[in-house]
Amino acid sequence: MADQPGTSHPEIREAVRKLCAGFPGEYWRTLDRDRAYPTEFVRTLTEAGFLSVLIPEEYGGSGLGLSAATAVLEEIHRSGCNGGACHAQMYTMGTVLKHGSQAQKETYLPAIASGELRLQAFGVTEPTAGTDTTRISTFARREGDKYIINGQKIWISRAEHSDLMVLLCRTTAREDAARPSDGMSVLLIDMRKAVGAGLTIRPIRTMLNHATTELFFDNLEVPADCLIGEEGKGFRYILDGMNAERILIAAECIGDGRFFIDRSSAYAKDRSVFGRAIGENQGVQFPIARNHVQLSAAALMVDHAAALFDEGKPCGSEANMAKMLASEASWAAADTCIQTHGGFGFAEEYDVERKFRETRLYQVAPISTNLILSHVGTHILGMPKSF
Ligand SMILES: Cc1cc2nc3c(=O)[nH]c(=O)nc-3n(C[C@H](O)[C@H](O)[C@H](O)COP(=O)(O)OP(=O)(O)OC[C@H]3O[C@@H](n4cnc5c(N)ncnc54)[C@H](O)[C@@H]3O)c2cc1C
Repeated sequence: MADQPGTSHPEIREAVRKLCAGFPGEYWRTLDRDRAYPTEFVRTLTEAGFLSVLIPEEYGGSGLGLSAATAVLEEIHRSGCNGGACHAQMYTMGTVLKHGSQAQKETYLPAIASGELRLQAFGVTEPTAGTDTTRISTFARREGDKYIINGQKIWISRAEHSDLMVLLCRTTAREDAARPSDGMSVLLIDMRKAVGAGLTIRPIRTMLNHATTELFFDNLEVPADCLIGEEGKGFRYILDGMNAERILIAAECIGDGRFFIDRSSAYAKDRSVFGRAIGENQGVQFPIARNHVQLSAAALMVDHAAALFDEGKPCGSEANMAKMLASEASWAAADTCIQTHGGFGFAEEYDVERKFRETRLYQVAPISTNLILSHVGTHILGMPKSF
């Protein structure tokens, strides 16, 4: 862990900043207008090796760990770019790495590390289950050497830009399983073969440019050897990956927060009204200072959670708390940034309104704030469960 948040891995941070300088606001604004995918940005990050930092060296990655990955994503977001288009390429492979067979690891991980294969779709959420994952009903029925999948998923991001997808589905109905969290399995779906052969992808237009989709499975046949780990244990497998996801998304929020604070303080120094810089007014200055205080505290929690993860220690509560603190700090900084800019905060060309929309997502996804509070209230503080 670095002494000061935001200072770990200085070489990585500098290299990411340099790369991001080639993708200025205008690049993101154009894509945002068309809800188009940042193909060139993702290609450049891949070629520079930044998306394979979590893949061990023996499989072609740099094996640097989660702390390095948080530095990459924080700098991307601080630069005004957005890692949402590709962050899952970093961590979704963790399910294969931790629970896949040796053959699966050798087949997929080197190709993911090189970027030849994109594994950046993670299919969990369903329209009728919501956050209660044990209620998912997408079902994979085993028939000989294949599974036949039927069901529906929603909010599955980057599905159109992925060669592979980690899919959580039921292989035993909830009512037939010993516990509600049993009977779910993880399948690694080859999207190149599935689309048009039983899988339909329908894009969902949202308030931000996030390439998210709905998926419809209609008797999709996949080979049985795409099962990861043991049948029925999938829920446990995906929980592991969710800690990495929450910590990395928290790092994106820290980057967003720094973007807003950089922009707010620069504008407050520069903009003159009533014959003086608006930042001289404490009504303008103090909210920005408060944002810095909140963000610095959140960044310490992100670093702590990442360090625990890298040491292989339990980090579920810390990952949740880091994600909650960071998403709230970035959202507060976003609000201040709009206010500091006055009318210009609403003008597209300042990029503030775009980042404002983008950072709002993280209080809902990948897990909503209420569910984190519920985890803290029941798992850490031992209070009764509401569900
Ligand atoms: C842009 C975007 C991208 C996404 N990408 C993915 C993806 O790639 N893969 C994937 O699987 N999912 C993805 N998601 C889904 C995301 O993880 C869920 O939207 C999120 O977990 C919340 O679930 P929900 O939308 O079903 O809300 P619900 O579960 O319906 O909850 C609605 C609201 O009620 C609250 N609530 C529910 N139950 C309780 C309770 N017991 N106590 C207190 N409050 C409660 C929640 O906090 C929430 O605010 C994405 C979502 C979005 C919007």
